[in-house]
Amino acid sequence: MRKLRLRIGALVSAAALALSLTACGAAKAETLDIFAMDTYMSLVAVGSGGYDALQTAAVEINRLEALLSRTKDGSDVSRLNASAGGEGVTLSGETAALLALAKDCADRTAGAFDVTVAPLVDAWGITTDTPRVPAQSEIEALLTLVGGEHLTVDDSALHSSQLPPEDVAAALDAGCAVDLGGIAKGYASDRVADIFEKYQLTGGTVSLGGNVYVCGTTGEGKPWNVAIQDPNDSDGFAVRLRLSDAFVVTSGGYQRYFTAPDGTVYQHIIDPATGYPARSDLVSVSIVTYRAGGDRQGTMADAYSTALYVMGEAGAAAFWQAHRSDFDMVLITGDGRLLYTPGLADTIETDGSAYACQVIA
Ligand code: ADP
Ligand code: MG
Repeated sequence: MRKLRLRIGALVSAAALALSLTACGAAKAETLDIFAMDTYMSLVAVGSGGYDALQTAAVEINRLEALLSRTKDGSDVSRLNASAGGEGVTLSGETAALLALAKDCADRTAGAFDVTVAPLVDAWGITTDTPRVPAQSEIEALLTLVGGEHLTVDDSALHSSQLPPEDVAAALDAGCAVDLGGIAKGYASDRVADIFEKYQLTGGTVSLGGNVYVCGTTGEGKPWNVAIQDPNDSDGFAVRLRLSDAFVVTSGGYQRYFTAPDGTVYQHIIDPATGYPARSDLVSVSIVTYRAGGDRQGTMADAYSTALYVMGEAGAAAFWQAHRSDFDMVLITGDGRLLYTPGLADTIETDGSAYACQVIA
């Protein structure tokens, strides 16, 4: 049956936060907890504009949910999906730009991340109250609806100026649909990062159900501690990372899944190549990107965490080799190893980890 909907694959460790709140002379921290995009979110802001920054961030997250949700009537994504097979719709430049980025990610990951996987997400219903195992014939029929070629976004309009235009034409083939569940929270974390920057916070953290962004430093002027959850122990962490101005996005199969009547466990990330939930040899993938890299680093980390989970250990390692200047990562394998990229050597804290930790060469 459906398990915990809350995803906290990576979280900013409570210890670091408590310190920042209580240390003598530490800067004041504001906190805010909300439920949006089907997950619990916690935000912390350190600095004089902290309260206003968090209020603005909450409004922004709700705005993005109203734009990008598949289930909210009138959202850009609902209108696009409802138009499938028809003439198409006009979308906000912002949604269109995100869809165009999603299509790029599909190309870059050879389809391991693909937002057009939505019809299969629906057929399996893994995160719904009625998950099921579709017949092979149904899966094969739905696979013909998956692929970037089914989604047209008029990206000439997107490239025509620096700022996204107001309205962009988009269309979907009949029977197709898009699901931004694998990228929307990452996008939201990028927009919250913008808000933290605008309010000139000295520090802040955002945890959007597995999507973490840490900005600046704690109230004590130290980097934040981001804990990567131990997939085998919901109260424990596998390793911690000391980071500033970085995104840490974790995908895994261990929190959203269902057990079929025959005992097979199916987790919620679909392999677009097979139409089945990915049978990964990884249990968790955490992607680390850096704010200095641009205004889409959280979005990219979200797409990559989903994609590399699908690819499995060998595919993820090869993908990182080909894009090694773009991101760092922590992989936890089904056989109990924890692998991390050399860029994390100075930030990772492996003491006390239950895993055999190795650097990926
Ligand atoms: P979470 O939503 O739990 O943070 P992910 O970022 O890994 O986890 O996204 C998984 C969600 O993305 C699924 O619940 C589904 O809505 C959608 N999805 C599933 N498989 C894929 C895929 N291969 N590519 C893109 N999106 C996917
Ligand atoms: Mg993702």
